[in-house]
Amino acid sequence: MGNITHFSGKLLAVKELAPEVRHFVFEVPSTFTFLPGQYVFVQIPLSDGKHLKKPYSIASSPHQQGTLELCLNLVKGGQGSGYLFQLKRGETVDFTGPMGRFTIHGPDKPAIFIATGTGIAPFRSMISTLLTSGKQQSFILLAGYRKEDSELYGDTFRELAREHRNFSYHSIISQPHPTSAGKKGRVQLLVEKYLPPLFTGDIYLCGLREMVDETTKLLLSKGIDESRIHFERYD
Ligand SMILES: Cc1cc2nc3c(=O)[nH]c(=O)nc-3n(C[C@H](O)[C@H](O)[C@H](O)COP(=O)(O)OP(=O)(O)OC[C@H]3O[C@@H](n4cnc5c(N)ncnc54)[C@H](O)[C@@H]3O)c2cc1C
Repeated sequence: MGNITHFSGKLLAVKELAPEVRHFVFEVPSTFTFLPGQYVFVQIPLSDGKHLKKPYSIASSPHQQGTLELCLNLVKGGQGSGYLFQLKRGETVDFTGPMGRFTIHGPDKPAIFIATGTGIAPFRSMISTLLTSGKQQSFILLAGYRKEDSELYGDTFRELAREHRNFSYHSIISQPHPTSAGKKGRVQLLVEKYLPPLFTGDIYLCGLREMVDETTKLLLSKGIDESRIHFERYD
């Protein structure tokens, strides 16, 4: 694991992924290292000269040395997300990190990753790292979004699923357009459908508390031992 350091990052690129959700690419010192699943604190300057720190999961793989990517949704009236959303290319941000224990626990065990919204960020890092390092066990990613246009990195995960027979990706929309033909429901429905019987691997959950708590209850009711459930709650 990388040592916790303070460093600054220059904003290289910003991409709109969905309404009010953006992908940020920062140039950071090449000495910055982390484990997939960890997060950084972003230092938010306040108008009274003070600072605030907000945590954001690292969405990129540690193999991309010298860059750090984040995936953020704009929270109405939010100081942290508001600050990052108004940044211009070339501006710098102060970071502290890496932080957190939400990392890959059993690198050789099958794993299921369950996310809602920007909770997908640490899984983008974990899954790309596991697949590019040639791991052969099965990985399943289940993602829930509100609307059709709020899916994040869908093309990337579909492409990875085409390239790697041991990886599958399923997403679901909770509030689809009335004319939509896609799957409707919450991510728990995907768990009911795709959790393999007698699953022996680890399960990783990331997103808002409500989803994490409800899905954990569901997994426990299906006989998954608590020690195999790992989670990161955003609120
Ligand atoms: C370990 C960790 C990693 C995180 N990683 C990410 C990440 O990768 N991407 C990301 O977008 N967020 C992430 N978050 C959430 C993030 O840290 C902030 O909480 C979020 O950006 C809101 O902060 P803010 O300063 O913009 O809003 P605040 O000023 O804190 O909040 C403004 C209002 O919005 C409400 N609110 C707070 N958070 C949310 C939310 N997430 N959704 C809806 N309403 C909210 C609050 O109750 C408050 O009323 C992470 C949180 C943790 C603990």
